[in-house]
Amino acid sequence: MKIAVLGAAGGIGQPLSLLLKNQLPKGSELSLYDVAPSTPGVAVDLSHIPTDVSVIGYTGDEGLVKAVSGASVVVIPAGMARKPGMDRSDLFKFNANIVKGLVEVVAKHAPKACIAIITNPVNTMVPLAAEVLKKAGCYDSKRLFGVTMLDTLRAETFWGDATKTDRCTAKVPVIGGHSGTTILPLFSQAAGYEAISAEEIEKLTVHVQNAGTEVVEAKGSGSATLSMAAAGARFALAIVRGLNGEENVVEPAYVESKTGYAPFFAQPLVLGTEGVKEYLPIGKLSAYEQKALEGMLDTLKKDIQQGVDFVNNN
Ligand code: NAD
Repeated sequence: MKIAVLGAAGGIGQPLSLLLKNQLPKGSELSLYDVAPSTPGVAVDLSHIPTDVSVIGYTGDEGLVKAVSGASVVVIPAGMARKPGMDRSDLFKFNANIVKGLVEVVAKHAPKACIAIITNPVNTMVPLAAEVLKKAGCYDSKRLFGVTMLDTLRAETFWGDATKTDRCTAKVPVIGGHSGTTILPLFSQAAGYEAISAEEIEKLTVHVQNAGTEVVEAKGSGSATLSMAAAGARFALAIVRGLNGEENVVEPAYVESKTGYAPFFAQPLVLGTEGVKEYLPIGKLSAYEQKALEGMLDTLKKDIQQGVDFVNNN
């Protein structure tokens, strides 16, 4: 199976490619693309790691076509990251054309690929990509994902710490979108919820929602790259496991929604041989979570419409 990473020379792209080189199934082909001329060198560097995964790096327009042709999975972390003081929505004007251009090429040369978008603002980039794919006549809502996995990683880590349990076994669904209050961890569905006060739940929720900003402020330039690479690898590998026919592969992502809350929505999914196999219900929410869900919907719908309008007006 061929897996392409577009934006592979960046802060996320490099560690993500490293994790994929080490963790993809034997015989996989890892294809790296970035506008940065160093990309073939990143591939040479990775190729010295003794795993049975081939790796080739490309740059330039022809390189992009070669990178995506025949890919089963395309992961996109290409584009500008936040700097202190920026909101994810501030990235739209920089990243919209990047994602549009990349998805147009994927539509032409890998129309059946599962596409996982990491580039922010995810809430807007996924509906934007859906419009591009619709225009190209190859949109399949089961194969287009916004990667919200990092919110889950954060919620699980913070929950493990709060409940003094193993972070590796904590399970916390995170629904909605991937910015500010659209990120909604459902701690009421996590083991040990009864022992945690309402005040603490509220603090933990805000912590998950602001965790990205915490990293941006701590770094002073750039946003989460290493934890995002871990999240991106976990999600990309889950897609691969599903495509390979493994049963019960469950991970969350931001997809065209079947929930009725907004046209796109992050929720738990069963991944299978065609992409999404099943949309899992979001389950029972606490009163606090229900209020937060209702409160996010206007923002989420506005973010989605911005992506749709961008493609239709350009
Ligand atoms: P970065 O600047 O370190 O890397 C971005 C890479 O994209 C660079 O190597 C650049 O050359 C490349 N690029 C730019 N235009 C391109 C194009 N047209 N084709 C191919 N490559 C191109 O940024 P980063 O820290 O890796 O972040 C990348 C994106 O991921 C940002 O938009 C950031 O906001 C987002 N992000 C998402 C999440 C999430 O949870 N989904 C988390 C963190 C960051």
